[in-house]
Amino acid sequence: MSDGMRSILGAGPAGLTCAINLAKSGERVKVYEIRKDVGMRFHPNLQGLKYLYMPPEEFMAKMGIGARIEYRYFPKAYICTRKREIEFDMSGRPLLPFVERGGRNSLEYRLYEEALSLGVEFEFGSKRQEREVDVVASGAKRADAAAVGRIYEDTDFPRDHYLVMFDDRFSPKGWYSYIIPTGKDVVEFVTCVSKPYIPLLHKLLDKAILERRIIGDFLAGKKILASFGGAGGVWIPKTAVKEGRYYVGEAAGFQDAFMGFGITHAIRSGKFAADAMVGKGNYDAMWKREILPYMRKDFAWRFPAAILGDWVIELGMRKYSDKNRGDLSGAIPEKSWWYKPAEAICFHLEQLHYALSGSW
Ligand SMILES: Cc1cc2nc3c(=O)[nH]c(=O)nc-3n(C[C@H](O)[C@H](O)[C@H](O)COP(=O)(O)OP(=O)(O)OC[C@H]3O[C@@H](n4cnc5c(N)ncnc54)[C@H](O)[C@@H]3O)c2cc1C
Repeated sequence: MSDGMRSILGAGPAGLTCAINLAKSGERVKVYEIRKDVGMRFHPNLQGLKYLYMPPEEFMAKMGIGARIEYRYFPKAYICTRKREIEFDMSGRPLLPFVERGGRNSLEYRLYEEALSLGVEFEFGSKRQEREVDVVASGAKRADAAAVGRIYEDTDFPRDHYLVMFDDRFSPKGWYSYIIPTGKDVVEFVTCVSKPYIPLLHKLLDKAILERRIIGDFLAGKKILASFGGAGGVWIPKTAVKEGRYYVGEAAGFQDAFMGFGITHAIRSGKFAADAMVGKGNYDAMWKREILPYMRKDFAWRFPAAILGDWVIELGMRKYSDKNRGDLSGAIPEKSWWYKPAEAICFHLEQLHYALSGSW
C-alpha cells in the first residue's frame, strides 16, 4: 500500500506475528481478515508446538511476542502403533506444549489483543486481494494433507494423558490420529491423512471408533458436540517475496510435511518478514536458514512414511514397551553415522515421489 500503512492479508499466527513486530518497529499496520473476527478458523481445539528447542515463553519472546499465552502440558501419553498400545510416563519431560486454537482464548486471539494494544488496525469481513497488500498471510492455498476433528462430550479419557495412534487403516498413509482432553468435560479426536484419502476422513474417524478398541472404549456412543478441520499445503518456494509482496506461514508453503505442525513456522516467518521490511535482514535468507532445515527433515521423514506407512513408526517404537518412563528421543536415531546421509537421500526421494504421484 502506498499511504505509508503496511498491509497484511490474514489474521492467523503468521500475519499477527508480522503485524506485532512491524508495529513495534514504529510502522503503521492494517490487517485484513476475511472472517468476522479473529479465531474463527477453528472451533476451539488444542494444537502442539513443534520445533521450539526452548521453553515456549522464551521462543515467543524471541519472536517479539509479549502476549501472555497459556500452554498446556500432558505428562503421560498412549502411543499406539498398528500392533501395540504403549503407555508412557514422560516424567516431567512432556513431548510438546499445546496451545488453544480458535475462539477467544486462542493463541491467535492473544496475538490480536497484543496487536491492538500496539495500534494495529483491523478490517474484518475483508475482500482484499493478494495484489493489494504487502504481506500475504492467508493460510493454506492447497490441500496436500488434511485433518478432521470432533469434540466429544465427557469420556473416561484420563485428563493427564493424550493419545496418538499411527495405524494406516485409520490414517493413511503414515499419518496419525489423536485424542486430547481439551477441557474439563470434553475431548477432541482428530485424524490426519494425505491428499488421496481426504474424501474419506469422516468415514475413517468412524471406522477407528468401531474397529480400534482403545479408541472405541473412550468414544463409542459419546455425543459429538462440534467438528472442525482444514487442509494443509506444503512446498518449498524458490523465493517467498514475489513482486515485492512477502508470503508468510502456510501461504508461503511453510508447513510440516511429516506431521502437519505449521504454527512455529508461521510465527517464525511472520517475524522474519517484519524484520526484513524494516531493513533488518533478507527474508529469503532468514527463512532458508531457520525454517528450511526443519522442512527438509520433515520431507525426508514423509518419504518412508508415504511408501511404507505405519510400519516406519512400528520400527521406531520397537524398543519401547508399556510402562516406559522418560522421553522418546531414542525413537529417532539422529546420532547414528548414517542418519544425515539417509535424511538427505530421503528428502530427494520424496521430491521425486511427489513429482510422480502428485501427493506427499
Ligand atoms: C485440524 C488441524 C489441526 C492442526 N494441528 C496443528 C498442531 O497441532 N500443531 C501445529 O503446529 N499446527 C497444526 N495445524 C496447522 C496450523 O493450524 C497451521 O499451520 C497454522 O495455523 C498456519 O498459520 P497461518 O497464520 O499461516 O495461517 P492460518 O492460521 O490459516 O491463518 C490464516 C488467516 O487468514 C485468513 N484468511 C484466509 N483467506 C483470506 C483472505 N483471502 N483475505 C483475508 N484473510 C484471509 C483466515 O481466516 C485466517 O484467519 C493444524 C491444522 C489443522 C487443520
